[in-house]
Amino acid sequence: MRVIGTAGHVDHGKSTLIAALTGSHPDRLKEERDREMTIDLGFAWLELANGETIGIVDVPGHRDFIENMLAGVGGIDAALFVVAADEGVMPQTREHLAILDLLQISNGVIALTKADLIDDPEWFDLVEAEVRQAIQGTVLENAPLVRVSAKTRMGLPALVEALARQLEAQPARPDLGRPRLPIDRVFTMSGFGTVVTGTLTDGQFYLGDEVEVLPSGLHGRVRGLQIHNRMVKVAVPGSRTAINIAGLNVDQIHRGDVVASPEKYLPTRRLDVDFRLLSSVETSLKHNAEVKLFLGTAEVIARTRVLGGEELLPGQSGWLQLELRDPVVALRGDRFILRRPSPGETLGGGEVVDPQPGERHKRFSEEVLARLQDLRGGSPAEVLFQASLVSGLAPLGEVVQKARLETAQAESAAEELISKGDLLALDGEGKDLLVIALPQWNALRGQVLEVVKAYHQSYPLRQGIPREELKSRLKMQNRPFLAAMHRLIARGDLMEKGALLSLADHQVVFNPQQEQVYRAVLARFTQAPYSPPSLKEVQAELGEELVNALLARGDLIQVSPEVVFFNRDYAALVEGVKGYLQDHLTLTVAEFRDRYQTSRKYALAFLEHLDSIGVTVRVGDDRRLK
Ligand code: GDP
Repeated sequence: MRVIGTAGHVDHGKSTLIAALTGSHPDRLKEERDREMTIDLGFAWLELANGETIGIVDVPGHRDFIENMLAGVGGIDAALFVVAADEGVMPQTREHLAILDLLQISNGVIALTKADLIDDPEWFDLVEAEVRQAIQGTVLENAPLVRVSAKTRMGLPALVEALARQLEAQPARPDLGRPRLPIDRVFTMSGFGTVVTGTLTDGQFYLGDEVEVLPSGLHGRVRGLQIHNRMVKVAVPGSRTAINIAGLNVDQIHRGDVVASPEKYLPTRRLDVDFRLLSSVETSLKHNAEVKLFLGTAEVIARTRVLGGEELLPGQSGWLQLELRDPVVALRGDRFILRRPSPGETLGGGEVVDPQPGERHKRFSEEVLARLQDLRGGSPAEVLFQASLVSGLAPLGEVVQKARLETAQAESAAEELISKGDLLALDGEGKDLLVIALPQWNALRGQVLEVVKAYHQSYPLRQGIPREELKSRLKMQNRPFLAAMHRLIARGDLMEKGALLSLADHQVVFNPQQEQVYRAVLARFTQAPYSPPSLKEVQAELGEELVNALLARGDLIQVSPEVVFFNRDYAALVEGVKGYLQDHLTLTVAEFRDRYQTSRKYALAFLEHLDSIGVTVRVGDDRRLK
């Protein structure tokens, strides 16, 4: 699906030409007639010889022409640039040209209109020479020039053919799986409700899709989809699309808003951009100047932070951080225009380099400037790496979306980064592959170890921190947490003891006072190894924390809710019983009690314990080896 847009000085014959080309008035005319609405941008469509239908955005010549034009040309594939043969190049001709140039709309055809008014062939040559000079050094430098008349229809077939050839040369719009439609019109249609129009990019919309209108974040549903006045079930990138949105009123949506898939875009009040100040502008662009930003169909007041310099001189390019009064939706690579609010003048434009810079940059930081440089000129790998830096530990699919790369490009970029070790792949595959940039991993690893260490310090008698607790302290989602822990354990940074995690070199150590109490209790165990103090008694003397540590460390072994043995004595009992049973085959509780000079309580607890761990089985009153 392709869209072309008209541009050129007011009254040079744009609308008349579109009407002549399409055989219909742009639909705005009909709508304006039908429902007394002011609709700024007109839309029509044109069928090419190859059967392809292309959308046409026509910008009528009233009100604030340039600002209107900006809302229309953002999403176009090629320009139909109109110059009236009788008047030639006019001020707006140049300004529109500059805008096409700044927006990098590099395909176009120049129509020299109203050719019927000119009889003198020399006049034509003069005007053509003037146009050629005006387009020199701009995106339209090599654009074909066709003489046409809407009145006599002279040159129209040649014009359509020239347009078709321009469009053919262009690759299809990429599908990044995250549709967005910058809204250029919102209106109500009786029987339908709210309708928005715009040029769809970066993904597809299906009938029934849930959508989010940004920056408001309001949700609605796609009840109807139209392309070129035909109902469709799916709209693909590059289509002039009308969406009938269920669940939202016209007054909840505005031109400049974006219809998007839910949660795919984050509106931003701050943009890092690469900007060029037009050389035709007479004053420099100062730090902290108030400007109007045109991005997509949005128009927002902004302040300029000039990075790496004090100001930009006419004709100069440089980095700006734009602070916006209202949030917008942007992606890396989006083109934009800045205008002076009043008197209205196009200052220049450029490309969004980072749509989510997060912080306010220091103006003269080498690090900031180097990062912007990487982001702008970067290879897919560099761009993916930068996106990963701000994504943390995230699925590759999410990082690729942030980077705004196409799938094939993104895959090889990811492979390259992973093989170089700049990007670590932790778990999963395909777009679910969990990845993290090396510096982010080092930071995360440091943070995890720090939290675990702090836990050890707070609870020196515990073996480690429960997994769940660590996860919540790190505020991590389950999958990334598991993947990160897996790597830390595999690398020997952490140790796993059941549900506990500890630093690899962590050992429970008692302080001198605990050590003293422990020795005293130990002495009682040594005195009566087979009738030792009960768990309750030990807990009363040592405290629960210390006893838990002894149990966890294996110093004490619990055989019943009440009974614990010191590990050395426990081992002696197990070996003793095994040896006895090998010689005597059976052992009763009474025999055990007498043999170890203990009480029935201990004998019973220990033998039941041996049953439960599968060393012995009970047959009547006897125990036998299992
Ligand atoms: P726009 O402002 O660029 O859209 O210009 P319009 O399409 O509204 O045309 C401006 C005027 O030029 C109108 O009066 C048209 O009738 C006239 N016009 C447009 N195209 C032609 C043409 O090919 N020949 C002649 N003679 N007049 C034209």
